[in-house]
Amino acid sequence: MSAPNTSGGSWVGRTATDVAAAVRSGAVSARQVTDEHLAAIEAGDGDIHAFNLVTADAARAAADAVDRQVADGTDPGPLAGVPVALKDNLCTRGVPTTCSSRMLEGWEPPYDATVVHLLARAGAVALGKTNLDEFAMGSSTENSAFGPTRNPRDLSRVPGGSSGGSAAAVAADFAPVALGSDTGGSIRQPAALCGVVGLKPTYGLVSRYGLVAFASSLDQIGPMTRTVADTAVVLDVIAGHDPADSTSIPEKLPSYAAAVGNGVAGLRVGLVTELNADGIADDVAARVRAAAEALAAAGAEVVEVSVPAVTYGLSAYYLIAPAEASSNLARYDGVRFGLRVDAPTTAEMMTATRTAGFGPEVKRRIMLGTYALSAGYYDAYYGKAQRVRTLIARDFAAAYESVDVLLSPTSPTTAFAFGAKADPLAMYLNDVCTIPSNLAGHPAISVPFGTGDDGLPVGVQLMAPAMGEPVLLATAAVLEHAAPIVNTDPTLAGGQ
Ligand code: GLN
Repeated sequence: MSAPNTSGGSWVGRTATDVAAAVRSGAVSARQVTDEHLAAIEAGDGDIHAFNLVTADAARAAADAVDRQVADGTDPGPLAGVPVALKDNLCTRGVPTTCSSRMLEGWEPPYDATVVHLLARAGAVALGKTNLDEFAMGSSTENSAFGPTRNPRDLSRVPGGSSGGSAAAVAADFAPVALGSDTGGSIRQPAALCGVVGLKPTYGLVSRYGLVAFASSLDQIGPMTRTVADTAVVLDVIAGHDPADSTSIPEKLPSYAAAVGNGVAGLRVGLVTELNADGIADDVAARVRAAAEALAAAGAEVVEVSVPAVTYGLSAYYLIAPAEASSNLARYDGVRFGLRVDAPTTAEMMTATRTAGFGPEVKRRIMLGTYALSAGYYDAYYGKAQRVRTLIARDFAAAYESVDVLLSPTSPTTAFAFGAKADPLAMYLNDVCTIPSNLAGHPAISVPFGTGDDGLPVGVQLMAPAMGEPVLLATAAVLEHAAPIVNTDPTLAGGQ
């Protein structure tokens, strides 16, 4: 770790690990770190629109509280003074939580999500709420009711989605840490497109209490950071059993930060045949091959492995996720949350509210899901998709008999232009590599590994069996070390 630098303006762009060490030692105040990041947001977010809301006063108050603890000799925690950005589908007490939907207009949650509470307890300073595709449905942040987020690496491109605001906030140095949620790729894909690290933890590892539900059997919250070590530090804080989430895993957990330096000597890595095939752009495929070579050079044994059922993942996901969404989003009825459009009868009020409150993609998902669950179609669609889910879990289990981790692209291409995927199916195809881990409940990480032909970041994905976060972090750290630095200057970018 480099020595803490206390000169003005220099805390923007530093890692969470550096910031926390400096704040805990008293080398810099949390207030200074916070003020510098708020100034960076003020200067840069007009172009990028990573944030739906910046909570500057609350951030300064939280930073001052951390500084008082340092002054008192109390340790504020492992994320002391670290600025964090929260995806705007995480409940924050008394602070608007919109899911980037008109539907939640005016709604302020009466409680904090467990992860929000855990971050604050560890000394982190929440700067605000980040933009997303409405209710986390999308892969570009273009489905936000409040306008899209722009990719900080190239403002003419999307940041990915649905956690596009969180990825952009980290890539633009507005915060070293953001939280996202991932139902079918929404942490990993925007991390890949913005050139940051994004981890979807094992289903049940991080509490979902206070995450506005999209598809409850798939949703997970996870960190987005600039370094693998920072992702591990944040995971150490947010992972763990929570009685408020009935799917939370009660196991005792290892130290994730301690696993980062484990290396890959003797590790067996499988390149997934079906995810390195047709539909993956040549420049992305080349980066995945380079990642495999880098792991081999670091002592891993790399082989090709077939996981046949992953080819059905996309079809199964686009039945299961909309089915669960159609049920979860039934609660937005004009009575209990946010928007209400008055009409003469209750039924008309509900129709008018839902017509005005939801955007086109959310309506499409509710209709798809309602259809898939309807009597007469349930077995043919929803039931069959659930059986595919079992096949995917089985094929992963078979693959993990011969390898420890799997390697694939995160996304088939680098960041695309706004409006390039107006056809919903073209957009859905973005999720082909990320969805299988959600269906299996397994962890997966996206780590930047150089750039494509356009000079934009490429992310490679590593997957592991349930509770395999330590091996994922160790492997990702090796790739991070081997990868050329992603830089928006095309003369500096490129392969190795
Ligand atoms: N892009 C996928 C979808 O639209 C995944 C979204 C997510 O992970 N929240 O469903």
